Amino acid sequence: MENTDQAKEGRIVKVAGPVVVAEAMTGARMYDVVKVGRLNLIGEVVELHGDLASIQVYEETGGIGPGEQVVNTQAPLSVELGPGLIESIYDGIQRPLDTLYRAQGEFMSRGTSLPGLDREKKWHFEPTVKEAAEVAPGDIIGQVRETTMVMHKIMVPHGVEGTIKKISEGQYTVDEPVGLVVDPSGKQTELKLMQTWAVRNPRAVVRRLPPNRILVTGQRIIDTFFPVTKGGTACVPGPFGSGKTVIQHQLAKWVDADIVVYVGCGERGNEMTDVLMEFPELKDPRTGEPLMKRSVLIANTSNMPVAAREASVYTGITIAEYFRDMGYVVALMADSTSRWAEAMREISTRLEEMPAEEGYPAYLAARIAAFYERAGRVQCHGNPQRQGSLSVVGAVSPPGGDLSDPVVQATLHVVKVFWSLKAELAYQRHFPAIDWLSSYSFYQQYLCEHFEDREQGDEMLSLASRAMSILQQESELREIVRLVGAEALSPEDRIALHTARILREDFLYQNAFHQVDTFASLKKQYEMLKTVLHFHKQATAAIAQNVETDDIFKLAVREEIARARFVPEDQVDKIVKIRDKIDEQMKQLQPSAAQL
Ligand code: ADP
Repeated sequence: MENTDQAKEGRIVKVAGPVVVAEAMTGARMYDVVKVGRLNLIGEVVELHGDLASIQVYEETGGIGPGEQVVNTQAPLSVELGPGLIESIYDGIQRPLDTLYRAQGEFMSRGTSLPGLDREKKWHFEPTVKEAAEVAPGDIIGQVRETTMVMHKIMVPHGVEGTIKKISEGQYTVDEPVGLVVDPSGKQTELKLMQTWAVRNPRAVVRRLPPNRILVTGQRIIDTFFPVTKGGTACVPGPFGSGKTVIQHQLAKWVDADIVVYVGCGERGNEMTDVLMEFPELKDPRTGEPLMKRSVLIANTSNMPVAAREASVYTGITIAEYFRDMGYVVALMADSTSRWAEAMREISTRLEEMPAEEGYPAYLAARIAAFYERAGRVQCHGNPQRQGSLSVVGAVSPPGGDLSDPVVQATLHVVKVFWSLKAELAYQRHFPAIDWLSSYSFYQQYLCEHFEDREQGDEMLSLASRAMSILQQESELREIVRLVGAEALSPEDRIALHTARILREDFLYQNAFHQVDTFASLKKQYEMLKTVLHFHKQATAAIAQNVETDDIFKLAVREEIARARFVPEDQVDKIVKIRDKIDEQMKQLQPSAAQL
C-alpha cells in the first residue's frame, strides 16, 4: 500500500479531535491514506484546499501537535481480501482485533499497522485452471478450503489479464505467488491468494439482477409478511430491550446465506464486547459448527475513535462484496448505522461544514443511499459464469425511538423492508417484537416463487394477505370495543378477533429459545397459516348456521392449532391433519337453541 520512496511529506497545522489539518500536502488526492505525526497514526484525506488537507484520523490524536510530519502513502483506504478473512474479528480499518489484543493488551498502542491477513499462515491452494489458459478479471483460478464451511475461490484481480504461464498446487501464504500471468505486451503479473480493494468504491459487477429470491430466515413474521430477499435491503430500528440482539442472532444463525458479515458500532464500550463474546459462541444450527466458520466480524467499541467507526461500514461491505463475487449468498448486518451517522456528524462538525438537519452533514442521505446501493443480486465478473448476492440489514437506533430522526428517514428512503420493532410488544413479551401494522416489505410478491408448486406459492401470498387483513381488522375492532364495549360486536367480528389472536399468539409469536419453534421452514409456515385461516373460514360458516361463538372458541382443536409451532419440520403433515379435525369438530356443533 505504501511507497515511502515517493511519499510526500506535509506538516500538521491544527489538531481538532479526530481531524488534523496539514499544509504542504502537494499532490495529495481525496481519500489518500496518510501517516500522521511521529506516531504514524493512520488517517485519510477528506478535504483539500490547494495543498491544505483535512485528514480524518483513525486513532486518538492526543499528544500530536502542529509541526509534526504527515506522510502520504498515495493509496486509498483499502482492505486485504483473501483466505483468512473468515473467522476474523477486525476493527474499522481491518486490523485484526485478536492479534492486536494479544500483542498489546486491551489498550493497543497507537500507530500500529498490522496486516488484515495473516502473512505466516499457509493455505492449500488447488488450481482450477491450467497453464496456457486465457484469464481475465474475476476468473476463478483455484480454491482454498478456508474453513469447514467456506471454500474460498481465488479470483484474478481487476486490472490483470492474459495467459497463465505458471500455476501450481501447493501450500502458500497469502502473498506468495501461486502463478504467473503474461499479457499480450509481455508484461508479467504474479497471481497471489490475496488482492486489495479501495473500500469506498463498490466492487465491479457485470450486471445487476432483480433481487427476486427470498432470503429465508425461518422467522415467521419476517418470511411470511415482511420478507427480505437475496440482494435486498432492510432496516430495523432497535429501541433498547426490544429484542434487537436476539433478532440479529436469529438472522445470523438461520438465514440461508453462505457468508455472514457483521459490522458492529457499539453504543457503549461493553455492548460491543458482549457481541464479541457472544457471537463466537453461536453455533450454526444446521451443522453444529461455530457460526464463525462462515462469518467475519467488524467491531468498533465506543472507546475507538469515531473515524474508524465511519470507515467500518465500508470495510465490512467491501469484504461482503468480495465473497458475493465468488458467487455466494452473503448477508451483512450493520448495527447500529446511527452510530456510523453520528461519526459522520462529528467529523463534519470538525471540518466546519455547514450542518443540515439535527447537525448531520448535508450529504448524510447520499452516503446512506450509497451504502445500501451496494447490496444486490449480481452477475459476477469472470468465468465460470456465476451470480452472487449481498443482502444488507441495517439496525438504526434513533434517540428516543423517534422515527422522524434524519438517519431513519434517509434509510427508509432507500431500503425496501422495514421491521418496526416496538418496545410495547417487548413489554408484553410478544417476540419477535416486530409490529405487523407498521412494518412493510416491497419484496412480498417474490414469496410465491419459493414454492415448487406455483399454485401453492400464489396461495401462500393470498393466505398472507388475508391474515394481514384480519390483523388490521382486529386493530379497528379493538378501537370500537374501547369506545362502545364488546357487546357491540357482531359474531363475525368476534370470530375475527379470535382468529387475530390465534395469528398473534400462535403464528407471529416465535420463541427463539425453543428448540423447534426457533425456526420454521416456508413449507411449515404455509401449512400453519393455511390451518389458522381454515379455522377462520369454518368458524365463519358455523356462525352463519347460528352456532354460538363461545362454542367455537372452546373446541379441542384450538389447542392443536396453538401447538402447531412445536411440530418438527419432518412431521409437517401433522399440521395438515389438524384441518380435518377442524372440519369434524365444527360439524358436531349445534346451532344455538335461542335461534331455533
Ligand atoms: P435488545 O438487544 O434490543 O436490548 P435483546 O435482544 O437482548 O434486546 O432482548 C431482550 C430479551 O427479550 C431477551 O433477553 C429475551 O429474554 C427476550 N427475547 C427477545 N426476542 C425473543 C424471542 N424471539 N423469543 C424469546 N425471547 C425473546
